[in-house]
Amino acid sequence: QFISNWRSGFDKTSVLGLLRDSSIVVLPLDSSDNRYAALIRLQIYAGAGAFNSQISTLLMLAALGLLLSLLGGYAIAYEITRPLKLLNILAQKIQGGEYGQPIEIKQKDEVGQLAKSIHSMSQGVAAREEKILHMAYTDSLTKLPNRAMFYERLSQAVKIGARSDSEFTVLMIDLDRFKYVNDVLGHESGDLVLQEVAARLNGFLRESDTVARLGGDEFAILLQTGNMDRVVTAVLKILKVLDEPVVLNNQPIDIGCSIGIASYPLHAEEASLLMRRADIAMYSAKRLNSGYAFYDLECEEHQQEHLSLLGEIRQAIDKDELQLFYQPKMSLKNEGAVSVEALLRWQHPERGLIPPDDFIPFAERTGVIRLITCWVVKTAIAQSGVWLREGRSIKMSVNISARDLMGPSLVEETVKALAQHKVPPAMICFEITESALMEDPAKAHETISQLRGLGLEISIDDYGTGYSSLAYVKKLPVSELKIDREFVKNMISNKQDIAIVRSTIELGHNLGLRVVAEGIENADELELLKKFGCDEVQGFLFSRALPASDLAFWIDENQDVLMHIQPTVDAKASNE
Ligand code: C2E
Ligand code: CA
Ligand code: CA
Repeated sequence: QFISNWRSGFDKTSVLGLLRDSSIVVLPLDSSDNRYAALIRLQIYAGAGAFNSQISTLLMLAALGLLLSLLGGYAIAYEITRPLKLLNILAQKIQGGEYGQPIEIKQKDEVGQLAKSIHSMSQGVAAREEKILHMAYTDSLTKLPNRAMFYERLSQAVKIGARSDSEFTVLMIDLDRFKYVNDVLGHESGDLVLQEVAARLNGFLRESDTVARLGGDEFAILLQTGNMDRVVTAVLKILKVLDEPVVLNNQPIDIGCSIGIASYPLHAEEASLLMRRADIAMYSAKRLNSGYAFYDLECEEHQQEHLSLLGEIRQAIDKDELQLFYQPKMSLKNEGAVSVEALLRWQHPERGLIPPDDFIPFAERTGVIRLITCWVVKTAIAQSGVWLREGRSIKMSVNISARDLMGPSLVEETVKALAQHKVPPAMICFEITESALMEDPAKAHETISQLRGLGLEISIDDYGTGYSSLAYVKKLPVSELKIDREFVKNMISNKQDIAIVRSTIELGHNLGLRVVAEGIENADELELLKKFGCDEVQGFLFSRALPASDLAFWIDENQDVLMHIQPTVDAKASNE
């Protein structure tokens, strides 16, 4: 084919097309005539052949090398980054609050060291956090959960309650006579009492219930039931458990408590409201002296009314809204003699006449009582002076609160008023409740002695409701014992109360004291008291408390009655 092509005239491209082997070079020998050409075959391929056969091996080797180094690099990078990644995860867990997780880094190099340090650091943080949490959520004295923890559990219970329709109950417990223990026996004794109370409360609760100390002498319980029968059963148990005296240094101490009850969802559906309402109920129980009380709207209104009254009471004195009424006390021994007890009233511009039980207890808690007592003492002594000048010799009894006995101002104000109105001290008798005496017996004793030294008389009011021992009463320089209305009220129907009244009269007489019974509402009671030899009587049977002018009028009108109240022959005989 080449030759035949050649013959038909040499065509370079066709020749080249034939000569596929590019190693052949065609060189035309002259440009005018295509008949001669040289074919040159380049023989370099012959030499390169051996090399060519090895290049693929080399390439394969290079590729393999590259692959291996890539794999190696990856492995090394993996070895370094894997622990770092693990550390990163660990750091994130620590950030999220998961401490002390085991870490799977076994290597011993720097990364391993770092891992180890982070691990032990997180364990340290975990331990410390647990300690801090424990401290933040536990009451250090009683080891009970504290207010924060209680609130958290309560919030949790509310959430569960909302989801599953479950019911539960908050009990707010306040000790009745803790202040006395703390003030009189000292804080160490106070602490022991709190620990004992905590142990008792803890002792009878179920696992699912929470008991916490909220602070001071206030405890709270979260009962996992809304069944009122079961709640009351539990509450009665608590009252019983805390009614047992706490024994300190062989000395039994009565503590007692008041419990407020609020249930979810009946009384509130929100944690803080539940606590507030249980608290309101607790104050209600204290006020009513009922041991326990369920929350109801009435006690809330009562409380709110008290709070706003409390704000106004300071101004009441300045605005001249306070008023003293006088209730006669009839003598059964001294014919016709009348003394009076000054009883406070608040003539409120909008609410009308407010009885003392509605504001005195709150005034006592806040200390405003000192201002009130100061006003009462001045006013009562001034009235005594007025009556004296009218020719009426009426002894005046004035109620004094515990707080008044704690400072010097009562004695100072009394001395001043007596002098100013020219009233002999013996015309004035201060009535001090038994419980007030017990708040700080030493200080009370001191003030009472000073008043007695001035020549005033002292009466122990509401006798029988407090816890004072006879031995203590005997030591006080008092002149009168006043039996509380509660005993007189039930005397006719209740044998026990008859016995209390009778023995109090005897006991008072044995101690050389005058005995007064208050709250006499009917003739039967009067007859019994006469029979027992009671010295003075006071009650609605004779008169309610009256404004000063009405009282004078009452005395003038009732001379007959007064002369008529004589001891029965029986009593005279029994007293002789
Ligand atoms: P209290 O010292 O036991 O006074 C006797 C209370 O019994 C008075 O109530 C009196 O009105 C009431 N009472 C008297 N006789 C009868 C009766 O036959 N039947 C009934 N149902 N009640 C009778 P009041 O005036 O409401 O005083 C209540 C309490 O408020 C007093 O109890 C006293 O503890 C306190 N209080 C009154 N005035 C003062 C005061 O000026 N200062 C202080 N610190 N407390 C006062
Ligand atoms: Ca009184
Ligand atoms: Ca009373």
